[in-house]
Amino acid sequence: MQFLSTRGEERVTGARAIVQGIAQDGGLFVPERFPQVSEEEISQMLEMDYPERAALILGKYFDEYDGGKLLEAVRAAYSRFETDDAAPLVRIEDGTYILELFHGPTCAFKDMALTVLPYLLAEGCRLTGVKEKILILAATSGDTGKAALEGFKDAEGVKVMTFYPEEGVSKMQKLQMCTTEGNNVNVVAVKGNFDDCQAGVKRIFASEECNKQLAEKGYKLSSANSINIGRLIPQVAYYFSAYCDLLSSGQISYGDKVDFAVPTGNFGNILAAYYAKQMGLPVGKLVCASNRNNVLTDFFRCGTYDSKRPFFKTMSPSMDILVSSNLERLIFELSGRNAQVTAERMQALSEKGKYSVTREEVKEMQEVFFAGCASEDDTVESIYEFFIEYGYPMDTHTGVAMSVVGAYKKSLEDENAEEHPIVVVSTASPYKFPQDVLYALTGNDVKDSYKGVKRINLLTAMKVPECLKAIRYKEILFKKVVTPQKMFDEVLAFAD
Ligand SMILES: *Cc1c(COP(=O)(O)O)cnc(C)c1O
Repeated sequence: MQFLSTRGEERVTGARAIVQGIAQDGGLFVPERFPQVSEEEISQMLEMDYPERAALILGKYFDEYDGGKLLEAVRAAYSRFETDDAAPLVRIEDGTYILELFHGPTCAFKDMALTVLPYLLAEGCRLTGVKEKILILAATSGDTGKAALEGFKDAEGVKVMTFYPEEGVSKMQKLQMCTTEGNNVNVVAVKGNFDDCQAGVKRIFASEECNKQLAEKGYKLSSANSINIGRLIPQVAYYFSAYCDLLSSGQISYGDKVDFAVPTGNFGNILAAYYAKQMGLPVGKLVCASNRNNVLTDFFRCGTYDSKRPFFKTMSPSMDILVSSNLERLIFELSGRNAQVTAERMQALSEKGKYSVTREEVKEMQEVFFAGCASEDDTVESIYEFFIEYGYPMDTHTGVAMSVVGAYKKSLEDENAEEHPIVVVSTASPYKFPQDVLYALTGNDVKDSYKGVKRINLLTAMKVPECLKAIRYKEILFKKVVTPQKMFDEVLAFAD
């Protein structure tokens, strides 16, 4: 399988796409076609555990990787999760399910891919004959950073560096990142928001001068953000796995359509669901849920992506994003895989802050996606009500999704449309955002994160993840704050 750039002629193997992270023309790598998963394969998957299911999906894209070694690596990755099943599906009631993706080493769904990416990258370097050391740069709205640090810490021949918005992450997320030990990690705060961090990292990737200076020090850049196709494909697997679990438990029959609701920021998670659909998974609607930063909601409703708008800090910080990188991959598909049109639109986005798609494209995307957004009040309300009704505590990001699911179901009723079973993707442990979750559940404000953790535990009896317990008294190792202009200086210094 080859991978193409969304913006031009570049065409590379999967291994190279992973090592490079981003195409030379600034585009994102996409598979040349979507491999299909047959009914027979789905029925084989029913008998498989999660690592086997994931290895099957990965193998379809990264066919130059050895299948046996891939399975072994994936198995090792998911053995670091606290649950036996890395992606358990919880039945709330018939027709409503929650896919829990937060049982990994950093309590957010980013672990689903970032525990696997180090292997994909190391093997990718071997397959492509890359001899330089790899310097991973990650911009983070809170969760990618820690997951990348955990995934790559102490890995050989790799250094990993993450940039986060100084004021834009939760206290717990900051604590998680800044206490990371390991001889090859670095964490730097940026004066600005997530978009500033992401733009800064992309600038470094795109700059010949930066790449040259790093090459002189023996380093090659790669990305741990979902712009890297090696981040995206492992995420496709859990949509198949959820469908298989619904089949095994007799909740659906093969061919029944299932809707998925995804709390969305950089559009990586929900894009993986779209990829699963393209591979033949019977997906109904994809519910794209945003917080107050509702640039995607507007885009899906009217076809204009307009990033020039106020940026809000919310209680779902991992979704505080106005430039959703992975949307580029959807735009590429919608345009009939037209790299020139995609490049023009992305250029308009970077120069004018906006672009529009055609009326036909809007219609096409509305057939697949339902988009909605939740205010802070809506989110609090939905966490509270869901807990009262079902005894299930959700984190703030999942709360956003659940709120939009309410609106989605109402729209189906209004239109007398057919309802499918719906899987709500839960992207983080409630303990990762303890103050906001406690506030939603009880109306109580606490200053201390761990006081919040304790109270949520008393209230819900949900187990506190070991990884959050472990960092409570750890030393803060990283304190540096820089302006976006100084990001590359930090990278250079770190590469020494
Ligand atoms: C990253 C993240 C999201 C958003 O996922 P995208 O792939 O960026 O759309 C949602 N919730 C949590 C908890 C996250 O960490």
